[in-house]
Amino acid sequence: MTEKNLKELKKKLFIDRKKYVRVPVGSETRYEDLIKEYIKFIGEAKTERETIEKILKTITNNGFEEFQKDKKYSSGSKLYFVNGNKSMIVVLVGDDFENFNLRIIASHVDSPHLDLKLNPVDEKSGFGYLKTHYYGGIKKYQWLTIPLALHGVVCRKDGTEIKINIGEKSEDICFCISDLLPHLAREQMNKTVTKFIDGESLTVLSSGAQSNSEEYQMDAKFNILSAIYDKFGITEHDLQCAELQFVPNFKPQIVGFDKFGIGGYGQDDRVCAFASLKALSLAKEINHTRVLYFADKEETGSDGTTGARSSFFRDSMAKFLNQFKATCDEVFPKSICLSGDVDAAFDPMYPEFYDKLNSAHLGQGVAITKYTGYGGKFGGSDASAELVSLITKKFSNSNIIYQVTGGLGKVDTGGGGTVAKYLANLNIPTIDVGVPVLSMHSPFEITSGLDLFELVRAYTCFYTNI
Ligand code: MN
Ligand code: MN
Repeated sequence: MTEKNLKELKKKLFIDRKKYVRVPVGSETRYEDLIKEYIKFIGEAKTERETIEKILKTITNNGFEEFQKDKKYSSGSKLYFVNGNKSMIVVLVGDDFENFNLRIIASHVDSPHLDLKLNPVDEKSGFGYLKTHYYGGIKKYQWLTIPLALHGVVCRKDGTEIKINIGEKSEDICFCISDLLPHLAREQMNKTVTKFIDGESLTVLSSGAQSNSEEYQMDAKFNILSAIYDKFGITEHDLQCAELQFVPNFKPQIVGFDKFGIGGYGQDDRVCAFASLKALSLAKEINHTRVLYFADKEETGSDGTTGARSSFFRDSMAKFLNQFKATCDEVFPKSICLSGDVDAAFDPMYPEFYDKLNSAHLGQGVAITKYTGYGGKFGGSDASAELVSLITKKFSNSNIIYQVTGGLGKVDTGGGGTVAKYLANLNIPTIDVGVPVLSMHSPFEITSGLDLFELVRAYTCFYTNI
């Protein structure tokens, strides 16, 4: 075999693993604008409620209206369902309304954080603290000594609901969890990381001013409660009727000399929520009916009314389909769902935990994950070969850079899942399509700008060409 023939044969046999090293020529401005818009989005939407509020604002500005039972819908109709301000479904009716073939993108809008406890105000030696209960899978030590902001809602006794957002602006106050200085940490440093800090120690320093009074205890609690009362009219009782969470207060920012990355909190999974919303507006021709599902509680197992296991999705779709005398049972199996969630990016600093060949790599395009789960593929979702074939073929035709992976890290090192299985359990053919994330679930996650660019193109392709 000649060298030329060998080269050609290899080209035919091997996957063309294009490394995506630069923005396509002619797309520079579009790229820059997208990154700017994304950074603004994740900088402003740091909780599930804030994300839903932002999405709601965007879509109502674009003519979407809340579903009405008696309204006649047809091609081009724009509607949405919202659930408890924490999850929602957006529908853009397509030309397929006589024979539905839905194109669904499902992502989640919650991220790991520290929830305020219901009796949070505590004092120690004159300092005031707010006690927390962590939400989602975190490495607790990552939350020490970083500036925190407090976000959420409080339902006051008088029936009004107050939105709280303290600690985001540079002139604003912020909060912090202290840590022991290294000089005195000999014993602490000998502990394993899981024992290094226990859940109860994720207690946030929130006041420190001390008076001449000997009643320090009263002062610490008073300093916290009087400050929030002065500002928001909230009492200790109201804190029990609240959803308040501490999140990192820093702003998302471009990472690296070559500007390859976007660093910021909560990119799992607001990156996919953002990309799907973007694709909804970018995909011009409406052939299939487009559905966006934004779920809450993914990080704690998708339970509850706003989680993906709730009947909200099926019930809402049933109401919608009923307007057309169609049913979920007949429509779902013909439809396709992309579960938009992030994948673990291969970390060159920790190669021993990954199967390099089967991991998603930052900057190498959209991650198509055929299956998730842990151990012997337990608890995950597994897309069919036919669906992988269809998606990869269409993405290839649109020159979308993608990588096909499975699982999370090396077999038996751990694992994880997404909302994919809950949609798949409804008999909707579902596959995970998202982007790789470095330092996932940390206060400062890193994605690649180019992967995000490709993800928006991939979702747009899904809505337009699949
Ligand atoms: Mn996720
Ligand atoms: Mn997650």
